[in-house]
Amino acid sequence: MKLEPCPCCLGKPEVSDMRVTGTIMWQVHCTVCGLASELDDDRIFTIQRWNKRLEKAGLKTWVTLLAGLLPFLVIIAFLTGSYTGLVLFR
Ligand SMILES: [Zn+2]
Repeated sequence: MKLEPCPCCLGKPEVSDMRVTGTIMWQVHCTVCGLASELDDDRIFTIQRWNKRLEKAGLKTWVTLLAGLLPFLVIIAFLTGSYTGLVLFR
């Protein structure tokens, strides 16, 4: 199963296993920044969770980017409105 790169630094991840109270627990961790997923006894689920986190990080980047651009979009819309004769505030 393919592991997506680290959502933090895009570094190479590694799957490791450890024995916790008699059960083998799986964890994915980044070999560059040390970011790690939670421990889980299901290896496939651990990998899926790691991969999903990257998706969320990607979405978060877009939301942050759009939120940062919003004031500029409002200013541009306002200026465009002024040019076309549309007045919002009198
Ligand atoms: Zn990393």
